[in-house]
Amino acid sequence: MLVTLWGTRGSLATPGPETARYGGNTSCVGVRGREGTVLVLDAGTGIRRLAASLDSTAKRIDILLTHLHMDHIQGLGFFGPLYRAGLAVHIWGPASSKLTLQERLARYLSPPLFPVCLRELPSEITLHEVPCDDFDIGEFRISSSLVCHPGPTVGYRIAEAGGGTLTYLPDHEPALGTQAFPSLPRAWTSGGELAAEADLLIHDSQYDAHQYRQHVGWGHSSLVQSLDFAKLSEVKHFVPFHHDPSHTDADLDRLFGEAIAEATPAYEVTPGREGTTFKI
Ligand SMILES: [Zn+2]
Ligand SMILES: [Zn+2]
Repeated sequence: MLVTLWGTRGSLATPGPETARYGGNTSCVGVRGREGTVLVLDAGTGIRRLAASLDSTAKRIDILLTHLHMDHIQGLGFFGPLYRAGLAVHIWGPASSKLTLQERLARYLSPPLFPVCLRELPSEITLHEVPCDDFDIGEFRISSSLVCHPGPTVGYRIAEAGGGTLTYLPDHEPALGTQAFPSLPRAWTSGGELAAEADLLIHDSQYDAHQYRQHVGWGHSSLVQSLDFAKLSEVKHFVPFHHDPSHTDADLDRLFGEAIAEATPAYEVTPGREGTTFKI
């Protein structure tokens, strides 16, 4: 599969000359399987440029939302294929005990926040609530489970038939509530089984150590914690991602340089930059 980063920023789109290299768009990752199946992971502001890369003759697109915080859905109304009559668009997202996925998405896709209602979009939209049993989309088998982040939030493990495995955990705080992190067994650690021995892990690394101490419980990881999580998960290749809006390109160069030199990881680390494509 080919995996492309279209949005690498956390919390708030952060365009500007000081963020141009790592990118200012919020979370969105495109996945293309060897048989041509397209998955869109989250609908942050990066989804607008992803749409321009798609084949206009596609019959079906699947959007997998990890949760409904604004930085993960803000691009949805600007995703051109939603306005294409006859295109099948399947949107997957976490269930909630309070409102359905449709009711929660319609809060954003309706006035006064957005001029077009979800039900008025001309594409053929089908909504699916996860986690549920593993499910198949084209050549992919997908697993999801709830992970540690405020509100219903899932992570995804995407395995291509006869190919590699990608784990996507953009907003995740596995260290919350346990001083033993990362020494608990993988099965007892949030997201541990989703990430186990993945070929590529894309994971939250929003904070530096000082910021994390000020934001315990906000649902994100420090870069050092995310490196520990990748080690515990025994992944082959790690992409730190969901960069804090306050971090400039120069800050990220320094933070990644220091943390990687300290951790000396046995796996490959590629800091998440908008526009990068990985082949698994
Ligand atoms: Zn986020
Ligand atoms: Zn979030």
